[in-house]
Amino acid sequence: MREPTSRPLRIIAFGAHPDDCELCAGGTAAKWVVQGHAVKFVSMTNGDVGHFTKHGPELAAIRKAEVEHRARILGISTEVLDINDGELEPTLANRRTVIRLIREWRADIVLCHRTNDYHPDHRYTGQLV
Ligand SMILES: [Zn+2]
Repeated sequence: MREPTSRPLRIIAFGAHPDDCELCAGGTAAKWVVQGHAVKFVSMTNGDVGHFTKHGPELAAIRKAEVEHRARILGISTEVLDINDGELEPTLANRRTVIRLIREWRADIVLCHRTNDYHPDHRYTGQLV
């Protein structure tokens, strides 16, 4: 068991889409920030599909703006990777991107989707992490 630490923790969460981290870990992130910890949310895809009227770069820009707005409210960092929604694959290149992001953030805690999720983007995010 790890000894308690007085230094702030660095937490990074990976979601498949721009809203997964916010919906699943936003409240927890808010509590961590209040305690002085540093939090970063990463969306593995740009969220360019899934809306009933908008799609493509227009929708991706809206969803990126939404997570950036949420990050300012929460006091966290955020990043949206430019991989098309529904097209995330567990490739070596994507694994290297995840490794780089975890190392750059110097993460103490890493959160992600389960590897047996119903949605392929969620499942592959868990596998990549
Ligand atoms: Zn999702």
